[in-house]
Amino acid sequence: MSKDFEERLCKILPDIIKEFGTPFHIYDAAGIIKTGERIKKLMPDVKEYFAVKANPNLAVMQFMQGMEFGFDCSSIPELNLARFLESKPDDIMFSSNNTSLEEFNEALADGGCILNLDDISMVKKVPQMPELICFRYNPGKRRSEGSNFIIGEPTEQKYGVPHEKIVEAYKLAIERGAKRFGIHTMICSNQMDWRYLAETVKMLLEAIEMISSELNIEFEFLNMGGGIGTPYRPGQEDFNLSAMAIGINYSMADFAKRNGYRPKLFMESGRYMTGPHGVLVTRCINRMSKYFEIVGVDASGPSCLMRSCIYDSAYHHITVLGKDETNSPMEIVNVVGSLCENNDQFAKERYLPVVEGGDILLIHNTGAHGLTMGSNYNGRLKCQELMLCSDGFVKRIRRAETFKDYFATQRNCD
Ligand SMILES: *Cc1c(COP(=O)(O)O)cnc(C)c1O
Repeated sequence: MSKDFEERLCKILPDIIKEFGTPFHIYDAAGIIKTGERIKKLMPDVKEYFAVKANPNLAVMQFMQGMEFGFDCSSIPELNLARFLESKPDDIMFSSNNTSLEEFNEALADGGCILNLDDISMVKKVPQMPELICFRYNPGKRRSEGSNFIIGEPTEQKYGVPHEKIVEAYKLAIERGAKRFGIHTMICSNQMDWRYLAETVKMLLEAIEMISSELNIEFEFLNMGGGIGTPYRPGQEDFNLSAMAIGINYSMADFAKRNGYRPKLFMESGRYMTGPHGVLVTRCINRMSKYFEIVGVDASGPSCLMRSCIYDSAYHHITVLGKDETNSPMEIVNVVGSLCENNDQFAKERYLPVVEGGDILLIHNTGAHGLTMGSNYNGRLKCQELMLCSDGFVKRIRRAETFKDYFATQRNCD
């Protein structure tokens, strides 16, 4: 969460809470747009397809559309969100894996979209081979270091066509009528080293050269996927986007010199676009002293912020509204939700200003892979989402789930 967002938010937070109650995620429109504009400025030749799964809220997606970004979708509901916003076929990448026939049919309907196949077996399965086809490439042992704990090493990932099968995949697609080609990869997550991502583009360009020389085809685009990291800990350095842009530009120019053409470059950032521009606001409802000190809050991890429950090392910084080291004594606490699951803890052994019942806690960097990962396990319902608009106005962009929502799939509640 940027200092700027924090300052703007904290000034009006008591009023927001009075109007909407707690808990809620709130997103910073100005921050999201600033990040998008920065991508456009530093990488003017690159087209961003926002990874919808990171934050599938129409209000967030509309900002992406406003910047002429496309959408990376991997399920029918995500596809429907993009189409609800009247995205054009070229503005949707469909990157599903373990794909069903129903998903292919849906992807091909409505003017289609850019179809990204995850496996060689899918060539036969696609009901109709589109003219433009893309494969997700998995380099296997060629790239091992740096993929990180979220996604694992390429050889451990379920995604993509292995190096040894990639030429054959395009060959089969050509036999079924494909005439235009793209290549995609996504092998890292929350990667803070720009070199790894620049190297990924180079890797794709090398794959293109290899495939082209075997099959005598040209590629329209390469898609470097998502995976750009954002700092979660205070003091951690930002991802160096400008260095990555320079590195990528060098490889692209080199390719153009050798091959006489320059394919388009796509990327699919999720976390980088929205991660730092969201915060979960929650109230302390219980102070308890057990084998350790406990701050109980009115949000639960599994419903509102699953990341902190399933990834041991997923740190989310926490601040307390109106309290810090300069004006409050400090203590070491665990910050917990209400689920009957011991991993429903937003923070363990965290050094925080002394929190009392009623205090407001800000759990930072929840703008990507936040609420959307939540579940209703244990009857915990998902909280509301708010948007801090650029003009300072706050609006609700998703209501909290109700018992009726929870019940709706079991009984007809009408
Ligand atoms: C999740 C995902 C992304 C976005 O990942 P981030 O790490 O949030 O940038 C992009 N592309 C695909 C195919 C994904 O599955």
